[in-house]
Amino acid sequence: MLLEKHFYLMMRDNFMVRPFVPQLIYVEPKAMEYSLGKSLVTKFENMGIEIRETTSHNQIRNLPGDNDFQKYRNAKSTLVIGVRKTLKFDTSKPSAEYAIPFATGCMGHCHYCYLQTTMGSKPYIRTYVNIDEIFDAAEGYMQERAPLDTRFEASCTSDIVGVDHLTHTLKHAIEYFGKSEHGKLRFVTKFAHVDHLLDADHKGRTRFRFSINNNHIIKYFEPGTSRLNERIEAAVKVAEAGYPLGFIIAPIYLHDGWKEGYKEMFEKLDEALPPFARKDLTFEMIQHRFTKPAKRVIEKNYPMTKLELDESKRKTKWGRYGIYKYVYQDQEQQDIKNTLGGWINDYFPASTIEYFT
Ligand code: SF4
Repeated sequence: MLLEKHFYLMMRDNFMVRPFVPQLIYVEPKAMEYSLGKSLVTKFENMGIEIRETTSHNQIRNLPGDNDFQKYRNAKSTLVIGVRKTLKFDTSKPSAEYAIPFATGCMGHCHYCYLQTTMGSKPYIRTYVNIDEIFDAAEGYMQERAPLDTRFEASCTSDIVGVDHLTHTLKHAIEYFGKSEHGKLRFVTKFAHVDHLLDADHKGRTRFRFSINNNHIIKYFEPGTSRLNERIEAAVKVAEAGYPLGFIIAPIYLHDGWKEGYKEMFEKLDEALPPFARKDLTFEMIQHRFTKPAKRVIEKNYPMTKLELDESKRKTKWGRYGIYKYVYQDQEQQDIKNTLGGWINDYFPASTIEYFT
């Protein structure tokens, strides 16, 4: 319990999150057949990080740690260099047509992260080195829809920016879609480590989005991610580099003083964003939701969380995975839409609100 408390406080109060460095690397042998696989192994050898072989990520069973709590945290510091076998892309409504898979998992510790339920007992981070095959598959999807544009979302299974300073996969993807006729890329991040992406030749075909929230929520529920001011500073750099910019406010979470918290967030954004960043600016709004299985996992992985997960205070909504989600009551949803939507319109009148869900 002591270790748990120490970890919690350390992560909560860690105001400058450094770029991710894995503590342990696993390599699938097939990854060494790709130039990116070889160069990543050389890079991590030079960084002095322990590298182990594994026939497949499914065979990884001996992660360090005396108990589930430690193992979970060590897994989130472990990077697997592998090959993406499934090249059939999932759909990604409402933000894009398809999810493009460059990585899975994340080093962050957001208490409400959807990956906790989707990745189950395998929360390590995987990066895929067969990126040309992934691009070829994307090309097939684009041809099916041409001459319409096809949008690909690169952050459905990971926070890809959080690991990209090491792999540069996303940077390649940005340049690939920069050259494409009918493809567009988008992704979202809670990390501010964007410098290597600023000189990518994006040709305006990538929308760079930051997931933001008010300071109270980031402080208590998003340990291990960049703070609000860091994300805003990074967003300004991204806008200066000419990328179309977007913000996802997610999850919108109602706590004592939520209106003041979100007002302050918009004020900070308004102070920082230069005029040219506001012309092609999008907002997406996602309210907090949870499922019963997610609640069980959250309480196991983050036993000290203050996250409010009381089903009786919420209304149910049927989810596409065949399970009920608990969302805010209709009146609360309306209050969120009016309050946050109103500030978006006041502060950023030229922006577009893409959806509220
Ligand atoms: Fe999950 Fe995003 Fe937080 Fe990573 S940054 S833990 S992907 S919510």
